[in-house]
Amino acid sequence: MQTRLPRIYIDTLGCSKNQVDSEVFIAQAKANEFEMVSDIEEANVLVINTCGFIEDAKQESIDHILEGVALKKEGKLDRLLVMGCLSDRYMKDLKADIPEVDHYFGSSHTSLPDVLRELGGRYRKELVGERMLTNPSHYAYLKISEGCDHTCSFCAIPIMRGGHVSRPVDDLVTEAEKLKTKGVRELVLIGQDLTWYGLDLYGKRILADLLKRLSDVGFDWIRLQYAYPARFPTDILPVIRDRQNICNYLDMPVQHANSEVLKSMRRGINGERMRELLHRIRDEVPDIRLRTTLIVGYPTESRERFEELVDFVKEIRFHRMGCFAYSQEEATPAWDLGDPVSAVEKQRRVREIMAVQEEISREHNLALVDRLLPVLVDRIEDGIAYGRTEWDTPEVDNEVIIQQAVNGFSSRDLHAGSFYNVRITDAEAFDLFGSIESIPEHIRG
Ligand code: SF4
Repeated sequence: MQTRLPRIYIDTLGCSKNQVDSEVFIAQAKANEFEMVSDIEEANVLVINTCGFIEDAKQESIDHILEGVALKKEGKLDRLLVMGCLSDRYMKDLKADIPEVDHYFGSSHTSLPDVLRELGGRYRKELVGERMLTNPSHYAYLKISEGCDHTCSFCAIPIMRGGHVSRPVDDLVTEAEKLKTKGVRELVLIGQDLTWYGLDLYGKRILADLLKRLSDVGFDWIRLQYAYPARFPTDILPVIRDRQNICNYLDMPVQHANSEVLKSMRRGINGERMRELLHRIRDEVPDIRLRTTLIVGYPTESRERFEELVDFVKEIRFHRMGCFAYSQEEATPAWDLGDPVSAVEKQRRVREIMAVQEEISREHNLALVDRLLPVLVDRIEDGIAYGRTEWDTPEVDNEVIIQQAVNGFSSRDLHAGSFYNVRITDAEAFDLFGSIESIPEHIRG
């Protein structure tokens, strides 16, 4: 029985999609006149928005739940609620193993009305598009779809989040306009697979049309994250190239390059067609920077196939790259293949391929020395400003570290959320260094 007025702390784990769900929750909670607190010490209700993507993420979510249980036992919390992907995937086991949690809910995007009801409030439909931003307010994520229609063999997301569901264009434009009025300058489009946008709602894929509508809202930058390579909608390429406020940036997880591994992964594309696609993207959008993600240590990845992947990375020379060690996930199509590559060998492959990429990234970055680039400053710490170019996603890619200034500017004059023209003076593999030369009159028109 709750005896104190609810003061809610929401603990968000996992990806930017969970972050958006938590931002919607906070906007709804405020409309219900619940008190949200930013320090868990001040809370008497803890809501944990969990992630169940891979083993490490699952363990992190469980650790947070157990910490919440400990706080409850100490009498610091009246209620402990758990939502999000982990609870969707393992609801029965969690209820049995950690019964101290007052209530488990499913995926955060579908369970918000239930969570609000549990707290004595109600979901306000009229608030569609309202969010309380939890990152610096000059950039925001816009989730254009939920779930995924693909069946990649290693991936549990369709099990947790279901098939692809697009949000209507008009709702997205309304949400984008509201974000714009809150001062958002950079919009980051997210979804499990942006390229599938529209198919379920409009009978055809219409990401290019959506991009034009969002571009017209007037953000300085719009960025695309997570484009599935098979059946890639090439009609978005001229839009990226010609619309000045759509960043020349694409995050396309290729996962692998060996055709046998790709086939087993059920990626719907082979190595040769992957190469053709990447070359076509670069031909049509010459200034584009590609980010990708790889999985190494997949069950059918022999040493030879891994080396083919290394050669592919050397050939394509991605500008940004991440690499995961394969994690065998229950109920996924690849489960029955076992997990024959040892953990030590997987980590060795991660290190080996990332060392190759580090050198490529360093060379790409050194090529930017002496260039003058528009940079959006994200934060200022101890008199040093940290920003990004249009080729870098927040909290993921390179930062531009602005240590010294010329032309009368110093880091003291800088403001987070503003653009500056920065002369790149030095570069490392994952960071750039520069000096401010001027404030751009127009950001890419
Ligand atoms: S496209 Fe992405 S989210 Fe969908 S099944 Fe494949 S890896 Fe998972």
